[in-house]
Amino acid sequence: MRAARLPEAGGPDLLTVEQVGVPSPGPGEVLIRVHAVGVNQLERQVMAGAPLGRPVLLPRTVGLDPVGVIVECGAGVPAERVGERVAVKPNVPCGGCSFCAVGREADCSSQYVLGIHRDGGAADYTVVPAAVAFDIGDIPFPDAAAAIHSIPIALHMIRRAGGFEPGTRVLVAGATGALGIACVQVAAALGAEVTAGVLKGEPVAALPGLGATAIVEYDREDATPLEEAGRGVPLALDATGSGVMIAAMLRCVAWAGHVVVAAALPESAFTVDTRHFYTRRVTLHGCAAADYTDVVDGLDLVRRGLIRPVVAVTLPLEEIREGFEMTKRRDHIGKVVLAIEP
Ligand SMILES: [Zn+2]
Repeated sequence: MRAARLPEAGGPDLLTVEQVGVPSPGPGEVLIRVHAVGVNQLERQVMAGAPLGRPVLLPRTVGLDPVGVIVECGAGVPAERVGERVAVKPNVPCGGCSFCAVGREADCSSQYVLGIHRDGGAADYTVVPAAVAFDIGDIPFPDAAAAIHSIPIALHMIRRAGGFEPGTRVLVAGATGALGIACVQVAAALGAEVTAGVLKGEPVAALPGLGATAIVEYDREDATPLEEAGRGVPLALDATGSGVMIAAMLRCVAWAGHVVVAAALPESAFTVDTRHFYTRRVTLHGCAAADYTDVVDGLDLVRRGLIRPVVAVTLPLEEIREGFEMTKRRDHIGKVVLAIEP
């Protein structure tokens, strides 16, 4: 079978599509015939050598978020799952810790990431733990690939902050990336009035159609417009990982407001005015994954047509390097998806 392999750290330019053997599912695992897989910013950063928790396994097959059909079940997995159309949650929780025991898979400290810490799904076939292969019903494969990573995390970000009533103003920074778009879409689907923050020059034409009621542009080093537009919002969602943006959000949220951060940049330090933070009862959350319930509910929003995942382009597996180039250029809106056809 074909697999997009990374031989060593050094960036997506090193990726090659090779012939390798079809893996076999072990106990608790399933073998999936892959139909599509996303191309992710996170992978590009990790390939370039940026650390992410535990060490990266190399060489390896990349691909965080494959979707496809279960073709074989390992021991302990009900054989009825063969034929199920599934999307794979990239963060794999351990299943045995105190967080996993109470359904807080997002907070599992022993989780690992497919395509980074074990072989992923940019291949004709992939083996994953059955627990992270979620039934997608009749959602088209490219849509499911565009949804499975970001939409549950966006939902988790909102839930972590305690949710909100319809009509609440929500600020999103980094609204043109895959996670930022998901934040806009999920917040809008739940009834928020969404102000979408974007870097000057990024493509914004699609954002109103995705649910943004206002758009604000800022510079990388000057978040003043974001801070002014977000003055008094109860909830701010950050998909930039930029310390400049996060500090601005901490200053502008309402009394007892929440800032949820779900991205990181190397140059990401920021300072907090503790008097402001403390007296105004502001809460800052870090969020890097989703719970299983977020995945089920996020896919349900897609299935019911309340969210339409945005696919920028589908490319054949052989063009995976071009896919990563696109995530670097950021001149598109939506997910770059690899279609993996026989
Ligand atoms: Zn765990």
